[in-house]
Amino acid sequence: MHGTLAGHLAAHPAPGLPEGATPAQAAALPPGTSVLAQPRTMPAPTAPRSRGQGQGVWWEHDGPLALVYAGGPDGHRGDLVVPVRLPQGAGQWPHLLHTLSDPETFHKVDLVRHQDPAEPGGWVYEAHLMVLAPAYVPASTAGRRAQAPTGRRGGVDGNVSNLAVVSVPDEPVIAGAASPGAAVVSSKVATASDERDRIARRERKRRRRQRALERSRRASNTAQYELGKRQRKRQRRRQAAGLSPRQVTVPGGPRIARADGTPRRSHRHDTLSSTYRRLRARDAAAAQRITQSRRTRARRTAGQIVAVHGPNLVIEDCDIRGWFRLWGRACARFTPGMLITALDHECANTGGRLLRAATRTTALSQHCPCGHRVPKTLRVRTHHCPTQDGGCGLTGDRDLVSAALAAFTHLHDSDDPSTARVDYQTSRRVLCAAGPGLPGALTEMM
Ligand SMILES: [Zn+2]
Repeated sequence: MHGTLAGHLAAHPAPGLPEGATPAQAAALPPGTSVLAQPRTMPAPTAPRSRGQGQGVWWEHDGPLALVYAGGPDGHRGDLVVPVRLPQGAGQWPHLLHTLSDPETFHKVDLVRHQDPAEPGGWVYEAHLMVLAPAYVPASTAGRRAQAPTGRRGGVDGNVSNLAVVSVPDEPVIAGAASPGAAVVSSKVATASDERDRIARRERKRRRRQRALERSRRASNTAQYELGKRQRKRQRRRQAAGLSPRQVTVPGGPRIARADGTPRRSHRHDTLSSTYRRLRARDAAAAQRITQSRRTRARRTAGQIVAVHGPNLVIEDCDIRGWFRLWGRACARFTPGMLITALDHECANTGGRLLRAATRTTALSQHCPCGHRVPKTLRVRTHHCPTQDGGCGLTGDRDLVSAALAAFTHLHDSDDPSTARVDYQTSRRVLCAAGPGLPGALTEMM
């Protein structure tokens, strides 16, 4: 890759940019100021001017950025020169400055193409740049992480459709406090109703596309499918009436298969129409967009959680794959696994850790903070500690009580979930003394 960020900026400055601004000066402009104004189709970069005699070499090029593929020692067709169009838009310039300002940084460029039915030709070509440098952290994220509370310990309870987080101040602060329950903070994360509607709409669209794909595949490979029940009945009726058999364009029955259920002809040998290919590309692009938006949402939520509860959290060590078997659709909507992974990263990047506690040694959902065992099935959503058996009488949301207990869970060895034990002595003093309800403030997050 040749050229410099300064040369690129000098060639394509935004209209309002001060004359002769350097990349660093452009990064210091107030947020919202446009830095680059690049045409939709970038002009081909001109070969570098020579400093001395004859043609110049690309190593001397300090204009707009260009990818140059040399023809090699016996290349007769010369170099392949591809202009670079940098990402432009809100918040992009500081990121570009981080990755491209230092030409000495070791970097690697991968030319990647991916299907995009909206683009002419159906493909988008991108140059992915990787630099050997610390990862870029936007100023807003760095600021949020610096402000995250450090003197707290939190517990997380993951669930198919929501996440409960409860945090308490560190031990010495609790010991000295007159009413330790007041410092408890709890949050519940669930999918917002408008988000839920949007997901349902997207799922309906996806199912429609899947049905159209299936119809198209059947229509192009009629010999591989049996007739449907109604189609068969109709053919029989026509035969009985002495009419000629009707041509069926889309057979509705199952795929013709061998006795063990494997299709007689593999799906990959099917004839696929151009409509099918186009629709499949559109479906893949839509699926990629959905994954991207889910990942963004998971990161944002993880950021919010750590900003309130701090980066030292404990979660029950559970296998989410089992949830998917039982509650696949609900899981796919809320994506608890993605949220927990994002939380793991956010905790680590904020200087803490998300610890995992074994279910067997803690049984968080089956205990009360007073130490009493309160068995409940998954259906029971409210925790109620009975007073007649010497319990404390605490009543609260099942997930929040479980998360609160996780906040009092300590691990002997942070890498071994089975060494987790709940400190019931402290949890009883903080959570059960204030009254029948769970103490502290509750916030809802989306
Ligand atoms: Zn109790």
